[in-house]
Amino acid sequence: MYSMELDFNIDVAITYRSNSQKARVMTEDWLSRNGFCPICGNVLSHFEANRPVADFICKVCCSEFELKSKHSKNGTIGKNITDGAYDTMIQRITSQNNPNFFFMTHNNLAVSNLIMIPNHFFTPEAIIKRKPLSVTARRSGWVGCNVSLSNIPESGQIFLVKDGQIINKDSVLSNYNRIASLRNIDISGRGWLMDVLRCIDFLENDFTLNQVYSFESLLKSKYPNNQFIKDKIRQQLQLLRDKDIIEFTSRGKYKKIK
Ligand SMILES: [Zn+2]
Repeated sequence: MYSMELDFNIDVAITYRSNSQKARVMTEDWLSRNGFCPICGNVLSHFEANRPVADFICKVCCSEFELKSKHSKNGTIGKNITDGAYDTMIQRITSQNNPNFFFMTHNNLAVSNLIMIPNHFFTPEAIIKRKPLSVTARRSGWVGCNVSLSNIPESGQIFLVKDGQIINKDSVLSNYNRIASLRNIDISGRGWLMDVLRCIDFLENDFTLNQVYSFESLLKSKYPNNQFIKDKIRQQLQLLRDKDIIEFTSRGKYKKIK
């Protein structure tokens, strides 16, 4: 029987000095013991340290995962997750085999939140450039990035732990399964799709085409050269319907498929 515990094993960090190293070792140890692949449900294996790309792999479905974690005093996940170098991150998410991401927050030596974001939900827009390090810094001019969770549709934020509550494994798998159909859409088509998905996030389960059109000016400000915003919206809704994310109930009316 699978069971998850939220506490870290602090013994694994005893020989490490810096708090950041301790945190890295404890969070990775935790994920390899308690985590599972949200795509197929099997165990995760930890890669050897310092691999440039992924930290974890599922040897059954061959999915790769990168773990980012942060300490959070109040345990909440916040809107941004600090990541590494901006250029590397952009390169990685636009590549063919970009990894999936786990984002973890911890507090009092235990996990408070763990989200998996599937690779096919990342767009460059979700990656926010940070200010270059100042001239006095050791790595002067280095530009890091934040991952902005508010730029990622809710359906692409698969919680395994939410505010200290463990999410049932079957729900995690079915939440992933629901959006798995969007996997084959490549990065060039992903931007509009994610935009329309995020608009739908604001709407109730049952919604109308006109309600989605109400985001037209918002989308227009993002794509000022596009004269066919409404057509683009309809095209994306059709795609989401073909991918079983929403269903068409009657003329101009849609429903989210749960
Ligand atoms: Zn798997």
